[in-house]
Amino acid sequence: MSIGEFEVISRFFVRRGERAPAQEGVLLGIGDDAALLRVPDGADLVAAVDTIVAGRHFPLETDARSIGHRALAVNLSDFAAMGASPAWATLALTMPTAEPAWLEGFAAGLWELADRYGVTLVGGDTTSGPLTVSLQLLGHVPRGTAIRRSGARAGDILAVTGTLGDAGAGLWLARARTAARGQALTGTDAPPHTGVLARELIERFEYPAPRVQFGLAARGIATAAMDISDGLVGDLPKLAAASGVSAHVEVDRLPLSQALRELATPLQARDWALAAGDDYELLFAVPPDRFGLLSEAASRIGLALTAIGELGAGSGVTWTLNGMAWVPGVIGYDHFR
Ligand code: ADP
Ligand code: MG
Repeated sequence: MSIGEFEVISRFFVRRGERAPAQEGVLLGIGDDAALLRVPDGADLVAAVDTIVAGRHFPLETDARSIGHRALAVNLSDFAAMGASPAWATLALTMPTAEPAWLEGFAAGLWELADRYGVTLVGGDTTSGPLTVSLQLLGHVPRGTAIRRSGARAGDILAVTGTLGDAGAGLWLARARTAARGQALTGTDAPPHTGVLARELIERFEYPAPRVQFGLAARGIATAAMDISDGLVGDLPKLAAASGVSAHVEVDRLPLSQALRELATPLQARDWALAAGDDYELLFAVPPDRFGLLSEAASRIGLALTAIGELGAGSGVTWTLNGMAWVPGVIGYDHFR
């Protein structure tokens, strides 16, 4: 049964009592015409917004909890790439009907991440229409210390966190799971989406882990960073162009998870790692003499950091595979192409 707009807000988005976390810097939260926030002394205000649309950023049948998680995770990942501390969020939620069970799941996914990273929801907007979730994240960074895309220099090492391609595989497997639900299984082969490794990859798509802690640790070490949301092939040229340098990647060095290697063919794994996007790993430029420092920061939190290439003078991106010049046959995600 669909409920009213006021009930949606007060039941699912206003937190009371012990469920209301510490509200650092919140002078006025949900309930007035606008929120009032106070940035710490000596800090720069950081703002990011990302919209996710059903059927575009996630399959229509995705769990509400995963959608709530994603709405915040994609913004946290942008903050991670800036080395910024997240603090406050506003949520513009558009949905066809207001179903309590769906809202329950959505809010649970949102609060899990919000609590982990100390984010307070301070306002929003609730409207009816096709399922679209727009979340704005606000936070801060000590004045002048944010990591930009534009700071890389020729000679810097190019490095990525975690493993690439898992979310691409996970999306494919989640779709296979949906298709299997709609039809009786034939044959004796186990369906591809079952099993521990498949579930691990689906989890990587449905519950991406933003690298917030590592982004903070990279401040003062990395010269440039961005998060890989549209795939390396689509995103790396943006970092290179912003910094006015060229980039070179040795494709054999792209970090692939055990699960991806076991479940996908080498060709498919490589394509997903290059272009599927949605991994929300971070791409860094770091001077060679500081790579060790960045690496240590990564191991302290149990995160892999892999050097995949370097930056040079000039412009553009080049790739090698097995030591030979190579051109990816896949392109990054673009909404209007
Ligand atoms: P207004 O019409 O003045 O914009 P609303 O009646 O839409 O205010 O909202 C009332 C309060 O509830 C505001 O503080 C607004 O920020 C908050 N709010 C509305 N929708 C949401 C939501 N989905 N999540 C969090 N806060 C919300
Ligand atoms: Mg108003």
